[in-house]
This record gives sequence, structure tokens and C-alpha cells, in this order.
Amino acid sequence: MLKIDMHTHILPAKLPRFAEKFGYGDFIYLDQREDGAADMIKGKDYFRTIQPNCWDEQIRIEEYKTNNTQVQVVCTIPVMFSYWAKPKDCLELSRFLNDHIAQVAENNPKNYVGLGTVPMQDANTAITELERIKELGLPGIQIGSNINDKNLSEEEFFPIFKACEELDLAIMVHPWEMLGMPSMKKYWLPWLVGMPAETSRAACSMIFGGVHERLPKLRVCYSHAGGAFIGTIGRIEHGFNCRPDLVAIDNPVNPREYLGNFWVDCITHDEKALKYIIDHVGSEKVCLGSDYPFPLGDLTIGEFIEKGDFDDSTKANIFHNSTIDWLKLDKSQFI
Ligand SMILES: [Zn+2]
Repeated sequence: MLKIDMHTHILPAKLPRFAEKFGYGDFIYLDQREDGAADMIKGKDYFRTIQPNCWDEQIRIEEYKTNNTQVQVVCTIPVMFSYWAKPKDCLELSRFLNDHIAQVAENNPKNYVGLGTVPMQDANTAITELERIKELGLPGIQIGSNINDKNLSEEEFFPIFKACEELDLAIMVHPWEMLGMPSMKKYWLPWLVGMPAETSRAACSMIFGGVHERLPKLRVCYSHAGGAFIGTIGRIEHGFNCRPDLVAIDNPVNPREYLGNFWVDCITHDEKALKYIIDHVGSEKVCLGSDYPFPLGDLTIGEFIEKGDFDDSTKANIFHNSTIDWLKLDKSQFI
């Protein structure tokens, strides 16, 4: 069965020294190591060591073969978003990353689809890059769950979402700059607790801010099975009903109504949790995702679904139909 993994991260093998070029900022650069790996350096601080499977498209294809998966939807690593930078500099960085991702997809059309990144901190600049992303042939973009700590419901972001709808570009919302991060660094809590909360923050903001309501054709996928959103939908709905004066101020529609309107990936690491997600949004809205090549990802790429108690049509939806729908892909591209 065709498998499309819609949540994977990639970087170019080399990054320009943007901090030196722009004269400020903690832009990421790559320090190549003698053992073949590379250290990501943020400003002067070590961020993370990455292996060649983070940038080598052929190694990735081979690794994916061992996991019975043909297609990877690649996007950048959220630390590259750089929404804190001056818009024109973030635009230059975004263009560099988008050109690379478009090239990877063009080189290997049966194995790669790409998502772009844009300077969300400035709507006009973001929209110019959205138009270029469309010309590059990428079917969508990845954005952060907040933009410099502003919620996605802020009106300044609405023109970007509107442009995505008009240009027919899909959106993947990825948690980053997690809430509570400064006070809970221990035990990897920003990743284990902050990320699911952050994705729920994004989904609640988009729903309560009326983004989904005003842009019904906008195709959004929330990472990590929607984070905490779907697991706490009962609480969120109850809050909407009991305190509409706080919750329903910008959109009078019950948040539960949006289940089945957006997509989520399947990254739950738990068969029962995935069944709960499917019960709430339908398998046609659940996409195979892995978060490859990072350790918190599902690095056997949906093996728990292959071996799990799911019927063939559910598997077909998760493994390819949902992503084909979300990104409006042509299945024949991969055959
Ligand atoms: Zn990810």
C-alpha cells in the first residue's frame, strides 16, 4: 500500500552564516563534524546534533524503504522559522529553505513533496513568498503554533490565511516556542508537555478567532494528532457553553463542530489514542506522519498502524488518502 509520510523535517546540507551576513541574531548554522554528523548552532549555543539523514535525500529514501514508505512530505525544522528576525532577513532565509525543498521535490518527484516556510511576522512579506511558493509548485506551508508569542487568532495573521485559501495552499501547524518553556526545561517538558499544549493553543485560537469559520476552504493540519486539543474537546466545549462571555466572543460556533473540518497527523505512539482520534475526526482526516528523523518521532513510520487493529480502508485513508486530500496531490505522481 502507498505510504505518504506528511510530517518529516529536512535541512540543506549547508547553511549560509546568516548571523554574520545580517549582523545580528541567533540564526542557526551547521558545524560539520569529522564523524559525518553536524552540530546545529543557535547563535553561540549548541542546539542539536543531526545526522546525514537530516539533509541527504538519497539516504532518506533508502531509510524509508526499510520502513516500507515511499513518499516524504518535507518541511524545515521549526527552529529555522526565525519569526523574531527582521522580515526582509527572514524572507531571505525562507527563500533559501524553500528553494532547497522545491529542488528536493523536483529531483525525486516519486519520493518527495515539499512544504514551504514564510515570514509570519509580516503579512505582506509572507504573502509575497506564498506567491513564490505557489510558483515553485509546493502545495503548502508549515507555520508555528504562535508567532512571537502572538496567537494565530490575531487579525494581523488573517491576510496570510486568506492568501493561502486563495492560492489553494495547505497549512501544517507545528508547535514551537512552547508556552511555559522558560520555567519547565527539566525532563524535556517543553517537548512532552509544552508541545501538545501549544498545538491545542493554536487550534483553539484558529477556531475561537473564527479563522476556520471565515475561511471554510482553508486546509489546515495540526501536528501530533492535534496535540491536546482532541483529547480535551469535552472541556473546551464545556468552557464554550458555560462561559460564552469569555470564549464565544469572536465566533459563536461550538468548537466541536470543527472536528472533521481540519486534518491531524497520526503521531500518537499509541493505538488506543489513535482510535480515539479517528472516532472524533474520521480516518479521512488522519494523515500518516512520523516527525522523522528526530528521536521523539514514530521512526518505524506507522508500523503500529500496520500491525494494529485497523481495517484496510482506515489504513488506506491514513497511509495516503488523507494526505492526498489535504495537499490536493495527484496519486499518479507516485506510481
Ligand atoms: Zn515535527
